[in-house]
Order: sequence, then C-alpha cells, then structure tokens
Amino acid sequence: MSDVVKSLSTRLSTPVDKPGVPSREEAEAAVRTLLRWAGDDPTREGLQDTPKRVAKAFKEFYSGYGEDPSEILDKIFAEVEGYDDIVLVRDIPFYSHCEHHMVPFFGVAHVAYYPTKGVVGLSKLARLVDAYARRLQTQETMTSQIAKAMVDALEPRGVAVMIEAEHMCMSMRGIQKAGALTLTTQFTGIFKEDPAEQVRFLTLVRGGRG
Ligand SMILES: [Zn+2]
Repeated sequence: MSDVVKSLSTRLSTPVDKPGVPSREEAEAAVRTLLRWAGDDPTREGLQDTPKRVAKAFKEFYSGYGEDPSEILDKIFAEVEGYDDIVLVRDIPFYSHCEHHMVPFFGVAHVAYYPTKGVVGLSKLARLVDAYARRLQTQETMTSQIAKAMVDALEPRGVAVMIEAEHMCMSMRGIQKAGALTLTTQFTGIFKEDPAEQVRFLTLVRGGRG
C-alpha cells in the first residue's frame, strides 16, 4: 500500500481526526438550532446543558466510525482440534440509527459461520455487530457489511447473518406501525448454495426457546 493510500485509509477509518470535522462548539450550536427548529427555547434552564449532552451522546452512538472491523477480527485461534462445524452466536442486542432520519432502530443480530482456518473469540462477533450498528446506515447494508467483514477476515465456508429490528422511524412517524419487525438475512458460501444450511441456521436461531 502506498503511503498516500495508507494515510487516506487511516484517516477514513478515524474520521474524528479528519480535517473539516466540526469542533464540539459547532456541534453544540447545531443542537441548539435543532432545539429551536423543534419549537423549544435552548436557553431555558432544562435545556441549557442538553447540547453538551447530545454532543457527548453522539460520540457513543456513532463510535463505530472509529472502529476498524478487520482489526476486531484479526486474532484467529487455529487450535480447535479440527472443529469445522457451525459457530452461531444468536440474540446479539444492538442499537443503531437509520441513515434516513437519524432515528433509532434496534433489535438482535444472529451471526454464524463455518470455520476453515480457525475461529474468532465469540465476543469479537458481538463487537463486530456494534462497530457497524454505531454508524448511520440501513438495516440492509448493516446485514451485508457484517457478512462481508466475516468473509474477508475468516475466509469461512459460509456466513449467515440475520437481523431482526424495530425501526422507530416507522413506529413514531410516517405510517406509525409500532411493533412491526423488519427481518433481513445475508447468506454467503455454503449457506447461499445449500437451502438445507439456511434451514439449519434458522432452526438453530429459533430453537430451544420456551
Ligand atoms: Zn428511518
């Protein structure tokens, strides 16, 4: 990788250091503008510290921009006594924001893969989900981004990702359908080629529940 490309990719993965990123003062001023846009008075007592809190909360909501998914999955444990069957982590809770309205959507992710060269720590898969959830995107792109990161890092025989989420932009605004669940799946490799593998994945995701 050339130095130029390297420094560019470093900057892209850590946008907080990018020139042109607004200062905290600018971010807080933008929140005051939105408070006025909502019809409130940002100078009233209850709202005085709100811009500061919102700017801080944004750092947490969107901390995924500072995470490099390939780094999260870079440690692979090869000593697994030949284990090559499915590894499934289900019900990974996540909170995200849709890129269309910056309104929360949240739910659970189920991720599975068939290892070839080894396995990753199970908590790393949950961290991977978080790295993408804490950005702005759609549920569809998040689903395929998680699958792609696993394919790239693990070179598995197949990856299955399923996300079930409720979108507040659907519950609170527009058609106001509270409780509607959006389900997305992405299958690669053996899961894509063999419908029986998809059934196995879905059975394990749904199985053993009271
Ligand atoms: Zn939305």
